[in-house]
Amino acid sequence: MKSIVVVGANLAGGRSVEALRQAGFDGRITLIGEEPWRPYERPPLSKEALWEPGKSAQKIFLHSEDWYHVNRVDLRLGARAVELDFSAGGVRLSDDELITAEKFLLATGARARLLPLSGADAPNVHHLRTKDQADALARELYPGARIVVIGMGVIGSEVAASAHKIGCEVFAVEPTHATMIRAVGERFGHWLAEKHRIKGIHVRFGVSPLALRQREGKVHAVELSNGESIDCDAVVVGIGIVPATELAAGAGLVVDNGIVVDRSSRTSHMNVFAAGDVASQPGFFGGRVRLETYQNATDQASVAAQAMLGKTVEYFKPAWFWSDQYDLNIQGVGRLDNSLSIVVRGDLESDDFSAFFLNGHVVEGVLTVNRAFEMGVGKRLVERRISVDPGALADSSTELRDLLKVRSDAA
Ligand code: FAD
Ligand code: NAP
Repeated sequence: MKSIVVVGANLAGGRSVEALRQAGFDGRITLIGEEPWRPYERPPLSKEALWEPGKSAQKIFLHSEDWYHVNRVDLRLGARAVELDFSAGGVRLSDDELITAEKFLLATGARARLLPLSGADAPNVHHLRTKDQADALARELYPGARIVVIGMGVIGSEVAASAHKIGCEVFAVEPTHATMIRAVGERFGHWLAEKHRIKGIHVRFGVSPLALRQREGKVHAVELSNGESIDCDAVVVGIGIVPATELAAGAGLVVDNGIVVDRSSRTSHMNVFAAGDVASQPGFFGGRVRLETYQNATDQASVAAQAMLGKTVEYFKPAWFWSDQYDLNIQGVGRLDNSLSIVVRGDLESDDFSAFFLNGHVVEGVLTVNRAFEMGVGKRLVERRISVDPGALADSSTELRDLLKVRSDAA
């Protein structure tokens, strides 16, 4: 094989070209990205890029500029791929250029879901996905600014914490009754909502935004379903993402809430692979899942690269994510689902605990709060589907890693 095209020049795309070279692929690699920036990390965009924008700007890129030159990666930035044309054997760009290859990786990720209200395109309404969007938002966060955050998922929670750190007055509007439910489950979603409230975020739960009031082209107030109207200087929207599947769908690949792939990241076409936020993959707990995490994009991209080179590889892992808000480092792996029984180890009151989500005695999920040191073992408990004694798990005097041994002793 002599040539590979990767569409999408961010985390999965950037890591895949690195993995291709590391695996010894010597052929032509073209990396196509519609953003003007070489691959960078998104996690800082809702965190330090908002409160120390200058410092963060230097650190977010995956590779130095000349890494692409040294590694002979033809990096096409500001270039949008509009068609995967099998009959012509390549990817067509918006200027009609055709880039041919034998294998293709679609790492097209996702875009922020737009708030479906009139005025959502005003310059002081911010959706957050890209570096440019984060830079624009950072310019509106200053001490005393009144910020309305719509959606208290991961983006909303992290931006609320960052804006609070800057000294903004933050209002949070969320239709459910908790925070980050999709990521941390209901019980800890309520726990986290309380943390925001205690910090001084004006939370409005069980409430939806109904209208954006505009004056001179900018939004100056948000009207809510409870009849309230909140005056504001800017609005931040974090209401989920929409996977960028249009290239795959246009080429006739199977798409179902993401580009459908197998465990080796291969799509329904044998020469096309997909990885990262855009890929719908076999789920660790059954069914199909589309994971929206940093670790997934990194690891799946590496597997896709090896699979493109003909190696027999599989990616089959539970999701892992982290989030930093205020003085909380939150990490989760696997299913953090309210239908499972929960065993807490450590001290909830002082925000220093791990929660284990058990299906019977099998650990299916682990949440750590300010206990990153327990996540390594937590991941292994979940990945190996280890059966534990809940009493021993709750007892802080039991070494967590001893619970891993129990399984191997029994095996
Ligand atoms: P993306 O990052 O979406 O990249 C896809 C790229 O493809 C984009 O640059 C896009 O412009 C390009 N593209 C799409 N279509 C085309 C086309 N037709 N032609 C050319 N280019 C195209 N995860 C964590 O685990 N922890 C965190 O703390 C965390 N923080 C985050 C903070 C923010 C603000 C955001 C937005 C995400 C965060 N994430 C975090 C999630 C993590 O960043 C994503 O899972 C990851 O970026 C997914 O990478 P990706 O390469 O699959 O997709
Ligand atoms: P998200 O976590 O899915 O949360 C979206 C939230 O908005 C949900 O609570 C949702 O409620 C709510 N919502 C949906 N429609 C709404 C509407 N019309 N009005 C008000 N609220 C609405 O998505 P996100 O926070 O936007 O994050 C986007 C992406 O960034 C995700 O891929 C995420 O993984 C990534 N990210 C990750 C991290 C991290 O891992 N630390 C940090 C930042 C961003 P319902 O669930 O009821 O629809």
